[in-house]
Amino acid sequence: MQGSCHCQDVKFELLGEVKKVVNCHCNLCRKMNGASFSTYAVSLANDFKLLSGQLKSITLTDRATKFVCSQCCSPIYNQNQRFNGLNMLYLGALDQTEALPAEVNLYTSTKLTWLDSLNEMPSLEQGVP
Ligand SMILES: [Zn+2]
Ligand SMILES: [Zn+2]
Repeated sequence: MQGSCHCQDVKFELLGEVKKVVNCHCNLCRKMNGASFSTYAVSLANDFKLLSGQLKSITLTDRATKFVCSQCCSPIYNQNQRFNGLNMLYLGALDQTEALPAEVNLYTSTKLTWLDSLNEMPSLEQGVP
């Protein structure tokens, strides 16, 4: 499976299987990604092969690090010492996102309540008309 950043400078390959696809609703992910929740494809760190470009590491806490494209800052993966040897690959960094549906919600104690009504709100196929 292949992946890339927004500017296409970073390209990578995932050599093994995705272990689990998770939606994380924790406050750290919400803040560091500026998103209502974050979806990760959990995989072995050893299975990540950088093909081109450069990653920049950002220290989030004493245990958590975020790796982004050094050019466009697209997030590629996170690592946490609590889950040693694993990469939390950003689902959007992978090129086949539809093939990897989320399987579980984590940290639902801090999940935004309006997420439960996503399917009921007005929805436009192509964004703002
Ligand atoms: Zn980039
Ligand atoms: Zn999180």
